[in-house]
Amino acid sequence: MKRTFVFPMVKKMASNSLYTVLMTQLKKSGITKTYALNNLFPYWWDDSLKKDDGSVTLLIMYLSDLIDVEIDKFWNEDTNPKDELISEAKFKKTIDKTDEDVQLASALAIKMGIWATKACKNDYFPLPINPLAIREEILANAKSKTVTLEGLLDYLWKNGIPVIYLADFPKGKDKKKPDALCSSVVGRPFIVLTRKDDDPAKQQFWLAHEAGHIAFNHLENEGTILDIDKNTQEENEANHFAYELNCGKIPENNWVCYNFNNFQSWVNSMASNYLIEPSVFAQTFAYKTDNQYLPLVNKHFRKKGAIDLVRKKMLEYLDENLIDREIWAGLLKMTGAYDLYYASADKEERICAIS
Ligand SMILES: [Zn+2]
Repeated sequence: MKRTFVFPMVKKMASNSLYTVLMTQLKKSGITKTYALNNLFPYWWDDSLKKDDGSVTLLIMYLSDLIDVEIDKFWNEDTNPKDELISEAKFKKTIDKTDEDVQLASALAIKMGIWATKACKNDYFPLPINPLAIREEILANAKSKTVTLEGLLDYLWKNGIPVIYLADFPKGKDKKKPDALCSSVVGRPFIVLTRKDDDPAKQQFWLAHEAGHIAFNHLENEGTILDIDKNTQEENEANHFAYELNCGKIPENNWVCYNFNNFQSWVNSMASNYLIEPSVFAQTFAYKTDNQYLPLVNKHFRKKGAIDLVRKKMLEYLDENLIDREIWAGLLKMTGAYDLYYASADKEERICAIS
């Protein structure tokens, strides 16, 4: 959204430059200089511009748009930009007031999710509450015979539910961030994956779990659910949803591995019987058994490529023309999709368009 900008001339700080004040305000919010430079600042920024108040003003206007915080919060030292960021995040759960790292990380993730909803090509269709219905639809369309991360990503995007990946967050003293989150804006939900784990089976589980929150309407139309290791009824419902979406209906007494030494072949035979990717079955089994098999699963079934796949799907299903060009570049930067975007076709044309 465009804002009216009043240049902070009148408040011009006695000795501090506008840039110094901006950095102080960001630091006050928990955003370090390194994080700002690597993630938040626009592609055209470089440090040689910091003495030029005109350029800093443009930088502030850009930040104000990107993270949707009033312009004056970046130069008025009586305010704190974080207050506005967090108050608009509409966290559904009461999170510990001292857990400021999580609040800030989530607020930034939500802002990027909102941009993704604005640029989403597809209309939103609510998810069925039955995970087996989703599984059936994915299996009916997928090239492979199992539910994979790619199949689930395609399904969610086609139903107008953006899924983005954000790994880099401001590092507060606790260095905390949610495992994943889902939120909604004007009735459209979106999912932000935040774990720096490239294993498709793991990301598929977290994604299916978030889809469960959305299907059960745990968001109650507006609000945000943060996944930060809670054992609530809603978390259990979302987990169960993920088990069935990824693996179908397997009788509870079949989820037992009787011979620890035979783990790999047991996983392979279960996966083949129930039409599941072995790594997905293994991961689901690890979660169902409170992670006691996780080291074995990681040793035998770990794969790579999840994060770039999430980015690739984001680029496939978003229409860059639906949002401001600079904001689009900012979204690419925050989601780490910049390189992938430029590596794709019509590179020259895109570089011309953005510069
Ligand atoms: Zn959850």
